[in-house]
Amino acid sequence: MPESNALSPWDPVSRLKGVGPKTGAKLAAAGVTRVVDLILHLPHRYEDRSQVVSLRRPLAADRWVMVRGTVRSVRIWRAARRRMRIVAGVVEDGEGSIGVVWFNQPWVKRRLAQTGVVSLYGPVRRGRGEVLQLVNPDITDVEQDDDQQIVPVYSSLAGIGGKRLRGLIKQCLGALEGCSDPLPDVLRRRFALPELRECLRELHAPVPPGEETDRVRYAAGLNSHRAAAHRRLAFDELLAFACGMEEWRSQREGLTSPVCHIDTESRHAMRSILPFELTEAQQRTVEEIVLDLERPIPMARLIQGDVGSGKTAVAALAILMMVEAGHQAALMAPTELLAEQHVRTLQPMFSRVGCDVDLLTSSLPAAEHRRVRRGLEDRSISLVVGTHALFQEAVRFSDLGLVVVDEQHRFGVVHRQALVEKGVAPNVLVMTATPIPRTLALTVYGDLDVSLIDQLPPGRRPVTTVVRSPRDTSRLYNFLRSELAEGGRAYLVYPMIDGNDDLEVPALENRRGVVEAELPGVNIGVLHGRLSRAEREEMSRGFARGDLQALLATTVVEVGIDVPEASVIVIEGPERFGLSQLHQLRGRVGRGNRRAWCVLLADDSIGEDARRRLDVLCETSDGFEVAEADLALRGPGELTGTRQWGPGSFRFADLVRDQALVRDARAVAGEWSASSRIDALRDGLARYHPMASAVPSG
Ligand code: ADP
Ligand code: MG
Repeated sequence: MPESNALSPWDPVSRLKGVGPKTGAKLAAAGVTRVVDLILHLPHRYEDRSQVVSLRRPLAADRWVMVRGTVRSVRIWRAARRRMRIVAGVVEDGEGSIGVVWFNQPWVKRRLAQTGVVSLYGPVRRGRGEVLQLVNPDITDVEQDDDQQIVPVYSSLAGIGGKRLRGLIKQCLGALEGCSDPLPDVLRRRFALPELRECLRELHAPVPPGEETDRVRYAAGLNSHRAAAHRRLAFDELLAFACGMEEWRSQREGLTSPVCHIDTESRHAMRSILPFELTEAQQRTVEEIVLDLERPIPMARLIQGDVGSGKTAVAALAILMMVEAGHQAALMAPTELLAEQHVRTLQPMFSRVGCDVDLLTSSLPAAEHRRVRRGLEDRSISLVVGTHALFQEAVRFSDLGLVVVDEQHRFGVVHRQALVEKGVAPNVLVMTATPIPRTLALTVYGDLDVSLIDQLPPGRRPVTTVVRSPRDTSRLYNFLRSELAEGGRAYLVYPMIDGNDDLEVPALENRRGVVEAELPGVNIGVLHGRLSRAEREEMSRGFARGDLQALLATTVVEVGIDVPEASVIVIEGPERFGLSQLHQLRGRVGRGNRRAWCVLLADDSIGEDARRRLDVLCETSDGFEVAEADLALRGPGELTGTRQWGPGSFRFADLVRDQALVRDARAVAGEWSASSRIDALRDGLARYHPMASAVPSG
């Protein structure tokens, strides 16, 4: 292939075979536009298909195995109760045999008829009568690509399935040569970090061992390689972040910010827009903000407060002060759903002082997007709510005085963007999604002043939290029926939208039929990230109004959604979430005066540790306690729940597991900040980790 045609990591994904405009748009929505963005989508596990097991001896239950043979006696039938089609047969490898079954994959029958010997990869489970069988195994033709390999498994992205992604990412590996290492040798040596290209190759394309005898040793070695590769990516990401913070700090020192003078009139306006009295803790936070805003030094304040403590109300007052003083204010939310809700909350408040609230997200119609951009530029709009689309290139503010960053966004991005043009820095107020243990807050938000809202609005009762088995849900549905009949509303939350037709998986689409059948006469809505903006808007409005009494949802309802009548939240597969994330989900109920419940539907098989973690939630309703317990209970090396604290955009780093790396990264950024070399380091890292760095990708 001629040099100019070689794939580069910086090429658009549209250069890949099989990525047309439709797939391209889906990927872009998930933040994947360049080949390198796909390369950084790492496998979450591996399937070792390099070793074919013999059927001569019985297989161990619950192990995943690779079997090679012919499937005979294939039958297909319909299971009456669960409306499901079942294909079953017997696989024989010449030495022995085992039963095999596929649920809800009727096409398998024809697939098997077309081939002779196949490779089957899947789990061995105990079926009816304790008989071992292979369940829902993946079928590949012998000699095909996946056969005899260690196969990386990717989680789906923007509705593109893992298998398809594997094909796309495989193409991307041709671009690995172009992934030059942003870390200079001295740093790699100092922290014993492997080379970037090596890491990426190891993670996406691990090589199976040649010698049977080396297998065990190799397997151990392979794991430590992968761990080193992960550690390397986590370090890069943290260093990108630390360099951005360092730069922000040095820039901020010489800047001035728009100022407010808070007089009796503005205090009167502040009182008039809220339908309730502030709690003491809210009042204290407002006063801290007043002091900040009266000074020409850019405010950089973090509001920490438990779920439901009323952070939004405080933010609304800060916005009001700024707008009354004649400057613009922007409120940035982590999701479109939340941005839309903020508009609904703020509109009635600000209409009392004659101020409009506009929405700016990337899914707005082009004309509306243009209108809002123009309004921000010519200053006819003074308050805008949006997602990160707010700080994209085409958006220019004429006089941005305050940015409120709701929940988990990275404030650095905002700051730098706003700085570029004017040399004037807006005031920044960050609200955290979840209480952060103090030790972590210091490492991540070390440069911010902190206000603490340590009090809930009056009349709140703690949410009663219980763990129940998903096997016996008749009592749960009885309870739901009566609670909904009395005017309550319920969320039912699932860890994923669909489970590839495997009804064992607690996925929303797998449960929908059952829930509808169990709750006759109840209007049930569905809310997840794959719906269009209009559909989401309709569902959340419907639920908020009470037209819908139950909402089946994914974790899109995790942050911020505020419906005071919601009284029950049922979470299936809770062991798949982090504790703080569960606390955050639980915070969706008990926001009004109704008594509220949180039901965690956890299988007995989740194990003792997972069970202990869930017990923490049953025992305390204090978010700080939950966070501390989570920190204490999570062992090092645990990969789940990485994203629940603070900045939502660390993809590889885990602030708990990687505390030592956080310190190293900060130290390096500090040492290098005085020299001009930090620019090259920062820019190099930012190309790979644009979201972690304070530098938007260009
Ligand atoms: P969070 O801190 O989770 O963002 P919100 O700002 O969404 O909390 O507030 C949660 C709910 O409590 C909202 O319905 C809000 O209107 C209400 N609320 C906030 N402050 C008060 C208060 N001082 N008195 C009564 N209700 C309040
Ligand atoms: Mg909130």
